[in-house]
Amino acid sequence: MKKTVFENNNNPQLCGIVQPLLRWYAENARVLPWRENTDPYRVWVSEIMLQQTQVETVTPYFDRFMRQFPDIQSLAHAEEEALLKVWEGLGYYTRARNLQKAARIIVQKYAGRFPFSYDEIRALPGIGAYTAGAVASICFGQPTPAVDGNVVRVVARLTGYDGDTAHPKVKEQIAAALRGVYPASQSADFTQSLMELGATVCLPRGAPKCESCPVNSLCMAYQTGTQMAIPVKVSKKPRKKEQKTVLLLCCGDKIALRRREAGGLLGGLWEFPNSDGSLTVQEVRRILDWWHISVVSVAESVRKKHIFTHIEWDMSSYIIICENMPQDFLWVTRETLEKQIALPSAFQAFRRVFFCTLAD
Ligand code: SF4
Repeated sequence: MKKTVFENNNNPQLCGIVQPLLRWYAENARVLPWRENTDPYRVWVSEIMLQQTQVETVTPYFDRFMRQFPDIQSLAHAEEEALLKVWEGLGYYTRARNLQKAARIIVQKYAGRFPFSYDEIRALPGIGAYTAGAVASICFGQPTPAVDGNVVRVVARLTGYDGDTAHPKVKEQIAAALRGVYPASQSADFTQSLMELGATVCLPRGAPKCESCPVNSLCMAYQTGTQMAIPVKVSKKPRKKEQKTVLLLCCGDKIALRRREAGGLLGGLWEFPNSDGSLTVQEVRRILDWWHISVVSVAESVRKKHIFTHIEWDMSSYIIICENMPQDFLWVTRETLEKQIALPSAFQAFRRVFFCTLAD
């Protein structure tokens, strides 16, 4: 791996950014609900929600989550179905399950008080180096950098690093370099100022707003006109493409659901029955026979794509009007589906088809 320019703890760009960034952050920090105070529960939940998800999307979810589970105790004792329902549409449901696992550990092992040390926070389920660094610095004032994609981009541009930033060691090296410049009494603000710069000025897509950047006089990429070429990421493997056929089994005012197997993609969540491949009507009818379903009609319906991190589903669908409701499935009304069942985003479009079928 190429030797990094941020390996040196006295990197002049990083040493110089601290005060200008803190001044800028004091004047420009966005007002966000999880910034109302430094309660570690709120900061932790927000950081987990913000993984792979935009602030605008997270804000209403965060508010709903806090209304329903206002503290660690209420999260620890929540019904899983209620927890997943609040998370519905946010994706990566393992995050919600890990939040609850961690809340239960905090209740049992730490008497409900969020642990203070970086190592104890890092040991909780679903908490990696980034989240542990964020909580320990923002809530407990420790000099623990939180290095995610935003911070990697900012530091790579500041230091003019043109090696592969997707290399697993890069985040660790950036964290080590930043640790050397943390301001002792303003760890919380410094962590958040780096995040804020990455989110609002040193943008991930399109041109960064270098003219209004508080650290542009120190930025190597700005001085050499290489902002758009940094960070360098060696291209990732293309997503795997899979065909699926979704079967919307309707009987009276009910529709069939089944649970996905535990583990793996969307493990343990509810789904509409489906099969691999793009099936013809004849193939669908054979499956329905196999499931002992008597059919009134089979009609082709919408086609949807859904993109996960590593997989893309190309889904066709059929609306099937059934005469019977085999017990292998959970048959639910529209009201139950809306109020009680957490349905992954991949299947939301088909839920709307079911609602339209009821209305016809
Ligand atoms: S000057 Fe531009 S490239 Fe450099 S840190 Fe600021 S916004 Fe990013």
